[in-house]
Amino acid sequence: MNHPRKVFLISLGCSKNLVDSESILGLLHDRGIRSAQTLEEADMVIINTCGFIQSAVEESIDTILEVSNKKKKGEIDYLFVVGCFVQRYGYKLSKEIPEVDGWLGTGELDKIPMLIQDHESPPLFFISRPTALADHTTSRIQTTPFYTAYLRIAEGCSHRCSYCIIPALRGPFRSRTLESLAIEAKRLIDHGVKEINIIAQDTTMYGRDLKSHPTLITLLENLLLIKGLDWIRIFYCHPVGVSDQLLSLLGSEEALCPYIDIPFQHVNPMILRSMGRDVQKEDPRILIEKIRSLKRDISIRTTLMVGFPGETDEIFDELHEFVSTASFDHMGAFIFSPEKGTPAARMQDIPDKKVAKKRLDNLMKLQRRISKEKNRSLIGRTLPVLIEGVSEETDLLLSGRTAAMAPDVDARVLINKGEGIVGEFSMVRITEAYPYDLVGEIV
Ligand code: SF4
Repeated sequence: MNHPRKVFLISLGCSKNLVDSESILGLLHDRGIRSAQTLEEADMVIINTCGFIQSAVEESIDTILEVSNKKKKGEIDYLFVVGCFVQRYGYKLSKEIPEVDGWLGTGELDKIPMLIQDHESPPLFFISRPTALADHTTSRIQTTPFYTAYLRIAEGCSHRCSYCIIPALRGPFRSRTLESLAIEAKRLIDHGVKEINIIAQDTTMYGRDLKSHPTLITLLENLLLIKGLDWIRIFYCHPVGVSDQLLSLLGSEEALCPYIDIPFQHVNPMILRSMGRDVQKEDPRILIEKIRSLKRDISIRTTLMVGFPGETDEIFDELHEFVSTASFDHMGAFIFSPEKGTPAARMQDIPDKKVAKKRLDNLMKLQRRISKEKNRSLIGRTLPVLIEGVSEETDLLLSGRTAAMAPDVDARVLINKGEGIVGEFSMVRITEAYPYDLVGEIV
């Protein structure tokens, strides 16, 4: 058998996983293995899986089975599966899907070249407690558009939310150093990146495990000193970690996107306690008020969970009321999924699936209304928009984002008049508003 030459990598799950995928591509590139743009032109496929909740597990299994069928038919030579799903289900996987040539858990991704070199021996399996931490010396091939990139500032999680399997899959929280992050940010900017998206399981925990105890504030202040960066966007802030100092920086620094992602999960104190979300410190409603009182308008993105054990109709009404008054700019919601190995999976009083689905629909319907109203209030305003290219739906429209819209997860501005350059900013006058997207023209 020949040595694999072209790899097609399928990255499932979140942006933190995508950074792992980019490191895998970097490691392979160092060994002369190039990326294929399509599965058809590849001789090797790597699937970087997600194992967060059942729907993600199912997606991982479906993808593995689909690609292993291609291997059976001889359409590809090698198939490797890595990441959270492998970490979660362990060695038994190799017996169940023999077409896979090798498996790696989340702490063993640097073994990928070895896995590939040894592909003719029986399938290899590496899994261990994740303690590794990629830094600026780790090879990485950016797969996001050239003007936007993720900066993963830490790995793992040391919270113990009762519904979440991530700490078991990703190991304890471990921060990268300020120096390493500054070097990587500078490198990204030198390569044309204009927007850096700060990610970690909880970005507000940054630095607590380091000797010198830097904080997210110190890190942001350092990044703000780097010339050439237009937008810094902060994701995944645990509500408990959002300090007044962080808010004051957010309220005053132009280069910090007026945007914050705070996955509140719920508002009811009993549910939050049962979720293990350390809520003694502050009521989510007070935090929202503080953000709304800042000098500039900040877009708030949140994630909420419905159908958690013990959520009665009254408790759901409280959540509904919270969404209505908080008036989130962007919101994602999902139904509680009892994950084996988590304390919440053993809890009683899980609301019926149909009830949970109805609650989810209810919440999303409310958010649609809020979002449309918010978008309407922007009609007539002229805003800087980062041009991303022609829209996915039609070549007749350009697509872009304002500072209040994050890549991948939020809505877009569709532009029906004027010319823009991909990766550059244009001033766009908003002319129409839809529940999620805006329409405008370049002025
Ligand atoms: S903060 Fe909670 S929900 Fe988020 S990854 Fe950590 S344990 Fe999971």
